[in-house]
Amino acid sequence: MKLVFATGNKGKLREAREILADLAEVVAPSELGIFDDVAETGSTLKENSILKARGYRELCGMDCFADDTGLEVDALGGAPGVHAARYAQDIARRDGLSLPPDHDFSANIDTLLSELSKCPGAPRTARFRSVVTLLLDGEEHFFEGTLKGRIAQARSGSGGFGYDPVFIADEYPDRSVAELPEEVKNAISHRGKALRAMAQWIKENICVNQ
Ligand code: IMP
Repeated sequence: MKLVFATGNKGKLREAREILADLAEVVAPSELGIFDDVAETGSTLKENSILKARGYRELCGMDCFADDTGLEVDALGGAPGVHAARYAQDIARRDGLSLPPDHDFSANIDTLLSELSKCPGAPRTARFRSVVTLLLDGEEHFFEGTLKGRIAQARSGSGGFGYDPVFIADEYPDRSVAELPEEVKNAISHRGKALRAMAQWIKENICVNQ
């Protein structure tokens, strides 16, 4: 079975290929010559992952899966949530400041630390949540994964991406996720859990019938 993974992120692609190794050949849109973006205009993770899966199904003409991830910080009432990739822009807009670029990881972390500094003493508990949509033979299937932890006071580490330098997972409380080797992060990560749930579903529902 061949599946398109609706992503341009090489780390995510490596992770999915490893998890689906015996079950499916995972192809990136760029490997099919598709470089278009699908706008993530949904208001929930599920809506965005559906939009991406449907969009790339249309663009690539193949069965497809897509993920969307949010970061929920308790002291911020669940923000940035589904807006994790554009948090710095949202807050700059709220405060009437000039807008940083989309997906600016460093600006997003600066904004997160700055918003949390306005809630001294509040618990810094947080979680990443991923929703994966698998669009197979015209039917949609959904899988979820969560990584619980807390937001550090400052950055550490250079691995991973996004908020990893300030996210401390409950399983490894003495370092940030950016300080974990890639295989350790993948073993505990929100996306890894959702992708493994999808792999299990494929094993039980598709592979047995082939
Ligand atoms: P996406 O849905 O995977 O594109 O994720 C949306 C945003 O969440 C990204 O721009 C990152 O800022 C953040 N994010 C997603 N996954 C991770 C992760 O594994 N570690 C750190 N940040 C992440």
